[in-house]
Amino acid sequence: MTEIRLHNTKTRSKQVFTPIDPKDVRMYLCGPTVYDRAHLGNARPVVVFDVLYRLLRLVYGEECVTYVRNFTDVDDKINATAKARKDAGAPGTLEDLIHERTQETIAWYHEDMDALGAMRPDREPRATAYIGAMIAMIERLILAGHAYAREGHVLFRVRSYSDYGKLSGRTVDDMIAGARVEVAPFKEDPMDFVLWKPSDADLPGWDSPWGRGRPGWHIECSAMSYELLGDTFDIHGGGIDLQFPHHENEIAQSCCAHPEGSFANYWVHNEMLQVEGKKMSKSLGNFFTVRDLLNKGVPGEVIRFVFMQTHYTRPMDWTAEKAQQSEGVLRKWRALTEDVTPAAEPAPAVIAALSDDLNTAGAMAELHALTGDPALLKASAQMLGLLLDEMGDWAVAPEADLSAHADRLAALRTAAMANKDFAPVDAFKAALVAAGVEVRMSKAGVELLPGAGFDAALLPALG
Ligand SMILES: [Zn+2]
Repeated sequence: MTEIRLHNTKTRSKQVFTPIDPKDVRMYLCGPTVYDRAHLGNARPVVVFDVLYRLLRLVYGEECVTYVRNFTDVDDKINATAKARKDAGAPGTLEDLIHERTQETIAWYHEDMDALGAMRPDREPRATAYIGAMIAMIERLILAGHAYAREGHVLFRVRSYSDYGKLSGRTVDDMIAGARVEVAPFKEDPMDFVLWKPSDADLPGWDSPWGRGRPGWHIECSAMSYELLGDTFDIHGGGIDLQFPHHENEIAQSCCAHPEGSFANYWVHNEMLQVEGKKMSKSLGNFFTVRDLLNKGVPGEVIRFVFMQTHYTRPMDWTAEKAQQSEGVLRKWRALTEDVTPAAEPAPAVIAALSDDLNTAGAMAELHALTGDPALLKASAQMLGLLLDEMGDWAVAPEADLSAHADRLAALRTAAMANKDFAPVDAFKAALVAAGVEVRMSKAGVELLPGAGFDAALLPALG
């Protein structure tokens, strides 16, 4: 069996991956908070862990891998967007508006991530469907002395868990010094974090032993992973920005509520995404969503291709130039493998690169070396979620009858040769190019071909 090695944040080393049960390999990834379109940075873990999921399925069997990614559908940002809609006069209760907003956002998320060739996880639990499990876990924590209730809040007693900070390699005192910990009168210690908080009438809430309220963010991943994957599972993934405090808090909650288990054996973190060498931020004006890119005509397959050129443990720099180059390569590979039946197995060198801590850049280099064997190139690329039939529409030259435009261009050229006024022929040619037409003019004649961004609606009028 192929040996997979992964960089485990828990041990700070690359380790051979040994699943608890090779017939039931289990992976959890922290999913999105569903209040708006996913930005490009949100898509990086989706692609990284999709590649890992595909590799695990290949190595252990499709039926032997369970991949869970949650939807955080209870959150103050969701409440705020729903409240803004209500204040603007939208009909329905606040709960209806929240539900509407999260449903809509989940549908967008699926649409956008599908476009990147990411397979849907086996389970996509919504936090609001697991409130009972969260309350049960909080009750266990209180009983064991790891949590306490005060003024409608329940807090986790951080100093009751001696391993707190181990994942990120910090001590509790370092964390207090460096972090923005919220000091509140109901906290025993500033480091203690919220498991449950009260909801007023304006906010969604559930009945609990501590009054009507809602869960803190961290507890949902602990409760859902326990319900769906058990007290110990194989891989926990997420962006490196979640390592502290989110993942430290997940570990503390899960290990204290279920000390018989060890929660996740391998912690895999992806680095962040930048845009043209800079941190993506609204204030820098380089903030955009996956949908913005798709709408601009950047195919999802190209986004995926760009992402895979950088190892997941390195910051990934999105540039327009990379997108353009990737589009060229994919177009070439698509032309090369069109109507080719993929080989039965991907190339061993591609699998070897991926198995070495998901070396996607190495796997891509192997693909470049396979252009002499289109069937093997196709099988190997498809294993990586590229050159899939359902993603290829963008690369297909659109059908269009441009003969009338070609005749007009030829006539304008003939006229220009006679009267030495080239302005009309140049203008007509420029309009064709703007409509995405590839213009080839030679002594033999004029040839027009619909190009990548061809849009018939933009063609110059003939009248
Ligand atoms: Zn999480």
